[in-house]
Amino acid sequence: MIYLILYRLNLNNGEIIQSQEAHEQFKRFLKRGKHRITPERFEVLDYALEQPGHFGADELFISMKTQNSNVSRATVYNTLELLAKCKLLAKRNFGDNKAHYESSFKRKNHDHLICTHCGKILEFTSDEIQKIVDRICEEQGMERTGYSFNIFARCKDPNKCKNF
Ligand SMILES: [Zn+2]
Ligand SMILES: [Zn+2]
Repeated sequence: MIYLILYRLNLNNGEIIQSQEAHEQFKRFLKRGKHRITPERFEVLDYALEQPGHFGADELFISMKTQNSNVSRATVYNTLELLAKCKLLAKRNFGDNKAHYESSFKRKNHDHLICTHCGKILEFTSDEIQKIVDRICEEQGMERTGYSFNIFARCKDPNKCKNF
């Protein structure tokens, strides 16, 4: 807990407000679902939102451990699932049978382009794709709640693809 307080002091004001908003959203979700509200779950939330890109549950667990967190692997795993259900995180499948997470808190929805050779993941947004998704939903009498769109490709430049 001491760590958490120190860490908060390092954030600037805007980030503290953002972090509080995320905490409120998660707290409401936990209450609604009758899940236990524990400090460990909020510690996982803070770490998860701090991650700059896409991450796996184990990577997050290891990075928390190296920063002296005592949160268990099981708590990291089940909290990430809860955060994905609460829409604070997006859970992605990049075709490697592993769940990848990323913050979706105040972030625009986006799609991914994955190099199947070196594993590089690029993000992009396309209004056209969103329009196609909406049109298909409309035609089928459905309302969109989410979608997943991945492009699997290979880097053209061998110098930029580390497993080429
Ligand atoms: Zn992404
Ligand atoms: Zn590549």
